[in-house]
Amino acid sequence: MNIMVALYQKDNEISRLKNLKNEVPEKLDGLNNALRKIQEECEEEGKILETIDARRRKLEREVEEQKLNLENFKKRKQEARRNEEFLALKREIERTEEKINQLEDKLLEVYIEKEEQEKISNQVNKSLKEKEKEIEEQSKSLNKSLQESTEELIIKEDERLRIAARLQDEGLLRRYNRLIESRGSGIAILEEPICSECHSTLPPQLFAEVRKCDKIHTCHSCGRILIYKWID
Ligand SMILES: [Zn+2]
Repeated sequence: MNIMVALYQKDNEISRLKNLKNEVPEKLDGLNNALRKIQEECEEEGKILETIDARRRKLEREVEEQKLNLENFKKRKQEARRNEEFLALKREIERTEEKINQLEDKLLEVYIEKEEQEKISNQVNKSLKEKEKEIEEQSKSLNKSLQESTEELIIKEDERLRIAARLQDEGLLRRYNRLIESRGSGIAILEEPICSECHSTLPPQLFAEVRKCDKIHTCHSCGRILIYKWID
């Protein structure tokens, strides 16, 4: 009976380690997804910044063009001989100056917008760098724990083999192994007359027998080997 309990405890340790190992790839995936999300966000903000900057360049070019036009009109006005021509160029000059003013107002807005967007982009890039560092550390520690639990698992499996070898009742071991395979656990630990695994109520007589710990009993409902809760 003590060997069965030792086997049960070892199997619990083994299954804890296996779960731990299985969790690592999932956790790594989660970390990489989080990283990808921030990378995408960085790209998005970078694209917005590029669009604003393209608008800035276009407006600056337009201002330059209009300034050249203005110079041209002014020169022509000075050389104008006819009054109508002079007045027409004067109107052109006023219109161009007005246009330049409007463009420069727009340009000022774009400068402010660009500055704001640069702040956002820098902030997102900063958190990306922080996240990359954080994830790198977490991944390292996850991989370390994966390696550790792999090594520990080999030791525990070996210990299990040795415990199982001490069990003389081969039929019992087979039954136990079958239960582990089919139901995930082979033993129900009892504190009260209820199977801890399938939760069915046990007859008082059976519970009393289990408490004596001198014979192997199984749950009538799930077939697990019943063991009274030992005192730690
Ligand atoms: Zn049961």
